[in-house]
Amino acid sequence: MTIRVAHLYPEYLNIYADRGNIAVLTNRARWRGLALEVEPISLGDELRPGAHDLLYIGGGQDREQALIAPDLAARAGTIAEAVADGAAVLAVCGGYQLLGRFYRGRDGEELPGAGLFPLETEAGERRMIGDCLLECELEPGVRQTIAGFENHAGVTRLDEGAEPFGRVVAGFGNDGESGFEGARVASAVGTYLHGPLLPRNPWLADWLLARALEHAGESPELDPLPDDLEHQAQVVSAERARSRGGRS
Ligand code: GLN
Repeated sequence: MTIRVAHLYPEYLNIYADRGNIAVLTNRARWRGLALEVEPISLGDELRPGAHDLLYIGGGQDREQALIAPDLAARAGTIAEAVADGAAVLAVCGGYQLLGRFYRGRDGEELPGAGLFPLETEAGERRMIGDCLLECELEPGVRQTIAGFENHAGVTRLDEGAEPFGRVVAGFGNDGESGFEGARVASAVGTYLHGPLLPRNPWLADWLLARALEHAGESPELDPLPDDLEHQAQVVSAERARSRGGRS
């Protein structure tokens, strides 16, 4: 069984070790006897409809975002179809912003987004940086925490009624005031948190793998892993977020 992953613009959107997220997905799949095949999809490459169980897009600076935004926006239909068909998506920071309707930078230039997430982002005056702790409920009644690190000037506003990825316990989140972080549409998750994100939040890696397996027509049941180190990493970084919070 092979889980097919599309890694969008890996040579442009790759800051803050976002590639570490791919390493976590690869290994957690391998430890369950599953293979993960990662196909880089960059400017001009074809994103074949239905060809991937999981799409990943990482973070990047405004300059890199500007280089890929029109190409990504042109894939809006394919991405929306993939999500409607049950494919999983993880979008981090700059990639998260560009899966909204638009990102308006400091210079006022508006980068088009792919419009998967019902939100808009504008660059603000301050940089929201620091450890961040969230409470998430991706499955009804199952509360989980996410510990990560955020670093963005973009202020993201969700449309009325849109579902955030989580609620901010410590840190800034989307805009520093709503208490919302990230966005979620079906099996697609967008978030500002990197660090990278998945090594210290293995439950999220497994949730994404399970959704990808379902998309591939397989059972989403994954054997549990010991996760001692991963758990310790989460505890340490959650404590840091609680004691220091975010700093502008
Ligand atoms: N445009 C982004 C910002 O708001 C880039 C964020 C990122 O990917 N670190 O700062």
